Amino acid sequence: MKAYRHDVTRSSNKDSLIPDFTATGILDIDFKRLKEKGVKHILIDLDLTLRKKRVYSLDPEIKNYLLQAMEDNNFESLNIASNNMTPLGRYARPLDASIYQPYVSGFKLIRKPSNLFYQRILESLKAPADSCVMIGDKLKGDVFGGNKAGMLTVLVEPRGNDYWYDRLLRTRHREQKAMQKFFPDYEA
Ligand SMILES: [Mg+2]
Repeated sequence: MKAYRHDVTRSSNKDSLIPDFTATGILDIDFKRLKEKGVKHILIDLDLTLRKKRVYSLDPEIKNYLLQAMEDNNFESLNIASNNMTPLGRYARPLDASIYQPYVSGFKLIRKPSNLFYQRILESLKAPADSCVMIGDKLKGDVFGGNKAGMLTVLVEPRGNDYWYDRLLRTRHREQKAMQKFFPDYEA
């Protein structure tokens, strides 16, 4: 896990697209270090972070790593924060994780990176933002959203292939460009 903003004081004026850490994947995340940063609650994106495309169960290695990290560091909660609208119990149950998905408010669908989405999680956890980390593969939904809410953020490389709509929109390319603006050595 590589630090990108380790000595920057948490504040609302930080660059909102820059994660605090980057990692090659879940297995590369140093949870002890996150604990030392004051993290008590873990929020993880599902698609391409926890699971690959077209894989409908958790990788046992990832599952065990997370369960061990929860135990070793005494984290208070593990949560899946996903824009996926299908039932996610099969991923959450083995981790004993709570699930946060898009919801309708008025006529609007509230999803990542909306601040409302993140505030709802904080309210439900009864936790201050700086005790939470958001881990995900997307700069906008996960890093920008988490940063804006005041959480620590970890950007992971996507597991497996991107979804067709992200390939079409060249999301990854644009994200890489955005990171390279700040960190010329950044490679996704
Ligand atoms: Mg994702």
